[in-house]
Amino acid sequence: MNLFLRKPVVCNICKKEINHKHRPKREWQIDGLLCGDCYVDQMKKFYELSRRQQCVICAIEKDVPDMWEPRYQWNMKGLLCKTCFDKKDEEYKKLKTFCNICGKKLGMIRYNPKKRWIVKGQLCKECWDSKKAKLG
Ligand SMILES: [Zn+2]
Ligand SMILES: [Zn+2]
Ligand SMILES: [Zn+2]
Repeated sequence: MNLFLRKPVVCNICKKEINHKHRPKREWQIDGLLCGDCYVDQMKKFYELSRRQQCVICAIEKDVPDMWEPRYQWNMKGLLCKTCFDKKDEEYKKLKTFCNICGKKLGMIRYNPKKRWIVKGQLCKECWDSKKAKLG
């Protein structure tokens, strides 16, 4: 038996001899085999990484549970940090409650600008009428 002549298997990270071999996951891009400790470490590391994401506005990196999904009306993809979410929310509310041309507070009746006017938000009746008169 030349069992003892076999090259010992060492962990590719800590170089310790391995009793229980662990094969690294492909996405870790590690060659060779790992010991149990290093395997668990890598697991944790990659789990953390996958839990972190960048805010699509300010690019700050945060844990996913601390991030906010944009409201569907914003037409955005990705996640936002709380600060950007609040800012965006504020902006959006403003856009929604004030006439975007004269700044007058809008009541229950708002007017949506026509697409070709290239005006964001909503308008009061007067502004809508004058836009309509100018641009049709
Ligand atoms: Zn190791
Ligand atoms: Zn942000
Ligand atoms: Zn107006």
